[in-house]
Amino acid sequence: THPLYTGMPTTIFEVMSRLAIEHNAVNLGQGFPDVDGPEEVRRVAADALMEGPNQYPPMMGLPELRQAVAGNEARFFGIERDPAHVLITSGATEALSDCLMAMVEPGDEVVVFDPCYDCYVPLIKRAGGVPKVVPLSPPDWSFSQADLNAAFTDRTKAVLINNPHNPASKVFSREELERVAAKLTAHDAYAICDEVYEHLVFGQAEHVPLATLPGMAERCVRIGSAGKSFSLTGWKVGYVAGPPALIAPIAKAHQFTTFTTPPNLQKAVAFGLGLSDDYFRRLADELATKRNRLASGLAALGLPTLQADGSYFLIADIGQLGLGSDVDAAQRMTVEAGVTTVPMSAFYSGDAPNHLLRFCFCKRDEVLDEAVTRLKAWQ
Ligand code: PMP
Ligand code: GLN
Repeated sequence: THPLYTGMPTTIFEVMSRLAIEHNAVNLGQGFPDVDGPEEVRRVAADALMEGPNQYPPMMGLPELRQAVAGNEARFFGIERDPAHVLITSGATEALSDCLMAMVEPGDEVVVFDPCYDCYVPLIKRAGGVPKVVPLSPPDWSFSQADLNAAFTDRTKAVLINNPHNPASKVFSREELERVAAKLTAHDAYAICDEVYEHLVFGQAEHVPLATLPGMAERCVRIGSAGKSFSLTGWKVGYVAGPPALIAPIAKAHQFTTFTTPPNLQKAVAFGLGLSDDYFRRLADELATKRNRLASGLAALGLPTLQADGSYFLIADIGQLGLGSDVDAAQRMTVEAGVTTVPMSAFYSGDAPNHLLRFCFCKRDEVLDEAVTRLKAWQ
């Protein structure tokens, strides 16, 4: 028999969610809100389902959604984008896959930060690329210039950067982005900027798209997701926007991957992207309050959490609990306490810490409180 590709691991989200269901645990593992996004957005989708269109929409996406994506980029980040250079995809995951299929040829190196979102490294490898990791060091998830320098070589094709960052909840500073930009220029490389959490940024933190730095617009594609911006993760409506020289080959990958994305959902997301500033501010404010609620609940149990400026994850240090590795701790916490998290080591390809767990906090207050109550009873 012919050997089959064995390089794809089982995603940790599937592993932990299955375990959560099996043990009737409060699931703060896989990241998804437990309240659906705006009713008015869902209403547009429902109406469009009945009234149509229900046939293949244009391959690049509905014109009104491409326009709305460009409008959102202009409104929040001052990015000037011709909607012709926006491609609609079936979630950010498809956009990531399309970008890597378009950009990476066998032997090309792709720089990623470690830890990173779980699909990055498997997709890079499947595209024939070689991941080169830049470690982020807790508690502030900073990276050294020496490590950055070492990751870039004459084979560097692109950097895949997630900002705001899952799982570290880091929002890269302008100074850090400038350091990345300098390497991109020096190595004539591209950036795939996964900015699905662009609107989920808290307090004084400011999300700066790498594409807005001098000279970067021509090198960067920016990925977003309605799943995050509208708390509708099951919809899988994403987008990727960038210069025409990059979007054209990415669209080629898209045409043979999914070709299109459900038109009623596209219509609804176009409507959503036009919601007032107030909607986006409230979304972030509500999440910041939830972050604080969970952080103080965990602190009261003696579990310190790291700074979390963006996305909807909180990293807790469980080193004091003496539960063994993070994988063992996450397993025991699900089985014995009835609370599911994700062990941070699942997001690493290099040296991983074994004392950190990722808690998802985009949940109803009573669910967050129940998780803390269960952990308290278990201690
Ligand atoms: N990138 C990051 C950093 C994410 O957290 C997620 C959400 N799980 C995705 C991409 C995938 O987004 P989507 O559900 O739109 O495919
Ligand atoms: N993005 C979500 C997370 O980080 C999960 C998405 C998925 O299950 N693939 O938890």
